[in-house]
Amino acid sequence: MPELPDLVHVERVLGERLIGRRVTAARTGDPTVLRMMIPGDFAAALVGQVVRSVERRGHFMRFGFDGDVLLVVNAMLVGKYRLLAPDEARPDKDRVALGFALVFDDAAELRYLDDKRMGKVYVARPADEAQIPVYNELGVDLLSPAFDRARFEQIAKGRRDQVRPFLMDKRALASIGNAYADEILFAARIHPKTFVRTLTEEDRDRLFGAINQVLRAAIDEIERRDAPADVKVRDFLSVRGRVGKPCPRCGTKIREVRVNDWDACFCPTCQPVTRSLFIDWSRIGPPPESAPAQAATAAAGKARPRRRTRRAGPG
Ligand SMILES: [Zn+2]
Repeated sequence: MPELPDLVHVERVLGERLIGRRVTAARTGDPTVLRMMIPGDFAAALVGQVVRSVERRGHFMRFGFDGDVLLVVNAMLVGKYRLLAPDEARPDKDRVALGFALVFDDAAELRYLDDKRMGKVYVARPADEAQIPVYNELGVDLLSPAFDRARFEQIAKGRRDQVRPFLMDKRALASIGNAYADEILFAARIHPKTFVRTLTEEDRDRLFGAINQVLRAAIDEIERRDAPADVKVRDFLSVRGRVGKPCPRCGTKIREVRVNDWDACFCPTCQPVTRSLFIDWSRIGPPPESAPAQAATAAAGKARPRRRTRRAGPG
């Protein structure tokens, strides 16, 4: 998805271009991405409206208009915003992926494109904003002053999941996606499958520091490049999208591991396995579903970082 650093850039670019502009035409492509929370159709709701605000909230983008209407977009995995200048060609191939298009009084056009149709576009009254799923339950915004070390401690406390899904829980932390979850864990030198409850205070310090440092450095880099709103700048990342390539820190090949339903990229040397999960159960029987915690802890004490099972080929 466009992730937080991408969206900070999109927010600025779209805000500078669109605030104060009046919508003169509006259309939708695939209606599966559209959720009308007000009566009437998309064009009727938006034509004639002037953009008053463009604001990122977590991983959502919120467009406020002077009339009593909002457009809130959750771009999910691949949704993107294409801003066409007044004199720019209108690529017809966009039609296949078009979620919506807004044409403005200076002939600029904003298109929301979504190849996978996983994103959602909500048209709502401000009074009904809280009914938008997930949006109303977002956790602490990671760029806000409210996200400090004490708050992070509070959020991490009692978590029973692995650290990567924890980072990606939008109801806890708003918002981290796949790419920056990997980058943050690499910076903090924590294996993606580590359970949150096994992190030491020092680990949590490093993780908190890495969230701030990685996101802010990425925002600076993306802003510095100043690419068009629909271009995701990712070539500066350390581990994400670099499987098989050398770790920029130690030279070990970057690996991929499945964590819940997602593939995580990590460096096996910089982010070593440290705990019971990595015991080779094939040698000592299936994992005891209801084994007492002490047994797992005892086993963890003996477990060494597991040597990788050799796969066919040099991969
Ligand atoms: Zn490394």
